Amino acid sequence: MKILIASPEVVPFAKTGGLADVAGSLPKALAKQRHDVRVIMPRYRMVDASKFGLTRLMPELDVVLGSASYKAAVDSSTMPGTNIPVYFIVNDGFFDRDELYVLEGKDYPDNSLRFAFFCMAALQMLRGIGWQPEIIHCNDWQTALIPTYLKNHPELRADSFYRSIKVLYSVHNLAYQGLCERDALPTIGLGWELFHMEGLEFYGKVNLMKAGIVYADAISTVSRQYAEEIQTSEYGSGLDGILRARANRLTGILNGIDYDDWNPEIDSLIPATYSATDLANKAVCKRELQRYSQLPEEPRTPVIGMVSRLADQKGFDILAEAIERMMQMDLQLVLLGTGDPKYHELFSAIGKKYPEKTGIHLKFDNRMAHWIEAGSDMFLMPSRYEPCGLNQLYSLRYGTIPIVRKTGGLADSITPVTPATMQRGQATGFVFTRYKAEDLLRTVKRAVVMYREDAAGWQKLMQAAMRKDFSWDASARKYTKLYESLVKESSNPD
Ligand code: ADP
Repeated sequence: MKILIASPEVVPFAKTGGLADVAGSLPKALAKQRHDVRVIMPRYRMVDASKFGLTRLMPELDVVLGSASYKAAVDSSTMPGTNIPVYFIVNDGFFDRDELYVLEGKDYPDNSLRFAFFCMAALQMLRGIGWQPEIIHCNDWQTALIPTYLKNHPELRADSFYRSIKVLYSVHNLAYQGLCERDALPTIGLGWELFHMEGLEFYGKVNLMKAGIVYADAISTVSRQYAEEIQTSEYGSGLDGILRARANRLTGILNGIDYDDWNPEIDSLIPATYSATDLANKAVCKRELQRYSQLPEEPRTPVIGMVSRLADQKGFDILAEAIERMMQMDLQLVLLGTGDPKYHELFSAIGKKYPEKTGIHLKFDNRMAHWIEAGSDMFLMPSRYEPCGLNQLYSLRYGTIPIVRKTGGLADSITPVTPATMQRGQATGFVFTRYKAEDLLRTVKRAVVMYREDAAGWQKLMQAAMRKDFSWDASARKYTKLYESLVKESSNPD
């Protein structure tokens, strides 16, 4: 099949979160299955053109949106280590900026126009290079206008080049919706006939996420549990109704992880490599992490790691409530993260108050993320909701036992410690259900007590965790099946 993956961020070119990891590794897994897979993303300032050898493929493309016309160019390169083509839509006014979507905590005011331009330019580029994918796999609100234009834009609808293309729209986080004022509609080149409840209207505004859900041929999200949850009012972020209406088109496919990148046996970013059969160097990683974080180099004190966006979604509100009591326990906490200023303040203060118990690193640092996975004994993810979550999957591979809340991909990927699962050697982590500070504390306590008092049990847990296989192959096969079913529909429209 000919498959185009459209994503606002792709590892290793630009990343703010897990979507970039997915968009970087799914194409490789699909290429292994011999599909003609290609990737398209914007060329941000963050994309290092010389490092990745970008060359100009199309010098000029006129992109018309409503009554305005914008210039685009297209650069190309390949995914490092493969010959998978990657296309970059260039427009410096839109993309040559410090950050991808947000500056100092605020969305860029022209985000809807920036990504409308990206979507339209991507579609026009395909015609320009004469490559007609059977599937465009879109990811999150930034790419939602691709199916919207294909279904509704008069010129694209009239053009047979686009007619048989099918779109899978993947939701990686339903809470980020690309909301904009209704006046944006003509600016992004769409007519008022789409502005209604079954279209892209959302309480008087335009909702791009909703447009993706409404106009794609199929919708997927990144775990089965999250696919169920988002159909409820608790997790649906106002879109549960439309998701229930399209439930027969909605599936959940758990993300895989790239074991070329996240594997303690070969990881060049950690102080010393180790494996399930020889764990001695995990202790070296722990000691180095403690040293770097200026913590007492105590081998028997459990280190709890966190690598996360500092956002309410990730459970920081209940952690904030619990943190003083957690600091009374015999443990060390190493946190790497950036995000909401209120959590920067909170954790800076906690770091100062408990220098012997905390290593607080308020930055984005990939090497440090690997290091925390390797050097910690436990990994904390108390998320309010978690579409898939990658860090718990990395943690399993690094023998770092996840402590998670039972939601979304965390529920789908971690087998809770119970007497029965321990007996069968299946347990891989500690799980709590209610989103409450008390439950978080109780679960951390359970983990710490087991770590201290049951060394054999802990070993068993680490072995079971490290044996788990979340490589991309299985998930990529599920995507292939889904693509195939959509392509079949185009040859058989009824
Ligand atoms: P989300 O996409 O919701 O942020 P995921 O768990 O799916 O959460 O993915 C987060 C990704 O971003 C992981 O690869 C994680 O290691 C990485 N990450 C998050 N914060 C940081 C940080 N401060 N420094 C380095 N990597 C980070």
